Amino acid sequence: MDVSIHMSAAMHADILLHLFPKGDRREQGGFLFCSYDDETQIFNVREWLPLTSSDYASQERDYLELCDTTRASLIKKAHDMDAALVEIHCHPGQQKVAFSLADWMGFKDFVPHIRWRLKGRPYAALVYGYQCIDGFAWIDQQKLPINVTGINTGQAFHSTTGNSMNALSRGFYEKI
Ligand SMILES: [Zn+2]
Repeated sequence: MDVSIHMSAAMHADILLHLFPKGDRREQGGFLFCSYDDETQIFNVREWLPLTSSDYASQERDYLELCDTTRASLIKKAHDMDAALVEIHCHPGQQKVAFSLADWMGFKDFVPHIRWRLKGRPYAALVYGYQCIDGFAWIDQQKLPINVTGINTGQAFHSTTGNSMNALSRGFYEKI
């Protein structure tokens, strides 16, 4: 499986601006509302929704947690749009970006729930570090994620680091 995410270069630039605001080292995030194509295994992004401080129950330098109301409205919007969701957050300053143990804990709770609410549609997660990206996708009914190969903007292909998939195969996330 070779899953990738397609969006415009302008949208990718908007996402970077949102994730790395000047003078704020807290984690930032947002969601992509996508159409998923089974044949090409591409998430085609239809809309980018940046989240703001009021969307979080907790927003720290190394941790984000959504408010229940935000979570509910994201699910409703995805449902109404018939969309597959991709979550995005950043690890400010991380050079070789990978999902953290806290991220993995979050996936264990959130991914089965949101996929159930959205009729089993694919789901993906991206994490942005300093000039690098990594990503996981849940496509079929498998429990473990697969690697997202990168983001295609039409002008450039931003490959993921694959660090999280390496960590997963080394058993890193099973420590918890
Ligand atoms: Zn994280």
